[in-house]
Amino acid sequence: MNDSELSTRTTRLAPSPTGALHLGNARTFLVNYLLARRRNWRILMRMEDLDSPRVKPWAAQQAIDDLQWLGITWDTTVARQSDRGAAYRDALDELVRSGDAYPCVCSRKDIQQASAAPHRDDHITAYPGLCRGKYESASQAEELTGRPAAWRVRVDTKPVVFRNEGMAGYQLAVVVDDAQQGVDVIVRGDDLLDSAARQIHLRRLLKLGPEPEYWHVPLVTGPDGRRLAKRHGDTRLSHYRQMGVSPRRILGLLAFMCGLSDQFGEMDMPELMEIFDLSKLPANPVIFDDACESFLTDG
Ligand code: GLU
Repeated sequence: MNDSELSTRTTRLAPSPTGALHLGNARTFLVNYLLARRRNWRILMRMEDLDSPRVKPWAAQQAIDDLQWLGITWDTTVARQSDRGAAYRDALDELVRSGDAYPCVCSRKDIQQASAAPHRDDHITAYPGLCRGKYESASQAEELTGRPAAWRVRVDTKPVVFRNEGMAGYQLAVVVDDAQQGVDVIVRGDDLLDSAARQIHLRRLLKLGPEPEYWHVPLVTGPDGRRLAKRHGDTRLSHYRQMGVSPRRILGLLAFMCGLSDQFGEMDMPELMEIFDLSKLPANPVIFDDACESFLTDG
């Protein structure tokens, strides 16, 4: 690692406004932020608010407020995926033209029933290729079957991505954005490791240039080893803000969770920046337990 790396590299903070940011999200954003500032990378803010039933109207602004409250900053105006449909459409058209994407009318159930492959433990079922080579166009597929068509992308062994009607596939959007926005370093939770293979594949098909460098950070879990979520109590940043917990306290806990201190204590962003050391980041998931919660709320 060379902290004084003189660079014009670009990374991004990419919240999905599908709910409130919790401590686990905050930790990943913090690692991304500290790494970027220490290494002089440019930081983009990209709201991944593709039109989906999961996007909550209040969550984008709240994510921005929460991150700013913590002291995390970025260097651009906020880009929104919901404004970029035309770019995704163009990329999809290119995949269709090159024969790398084909229409598919399978339901989730069809896929599960036809799938010979045992389900992997991340619940992703490989698409068994039922519609591959069957239809000449999406409209033909819809006419013949009376079902809405999605698009799948060919891979040598199994197809990886699809696009629902009127909504750019998430993977496609991320790949197009990262390329067009010049992102060359991606730091994110290791729950997205699986996405990296899909994204690299799409990037190659679309000839979008060299792959970015990927860093996948282990997640925060509850004491049960499962990814931090509602079942572990209310760890939303907005909840702690409402309770009057200070950002210094949250940063202190996050510093502990990044392996930067071995006890709980308050810390501000400049201090954290000073002591940040990626090599101390635990290689395994970090557990948020009662002691962490008490430090935040009993203080
Ligand atoms: N928006 C994604 C999330 O919040 C992150 C996407 C990415 O980093 O590639 O999980």
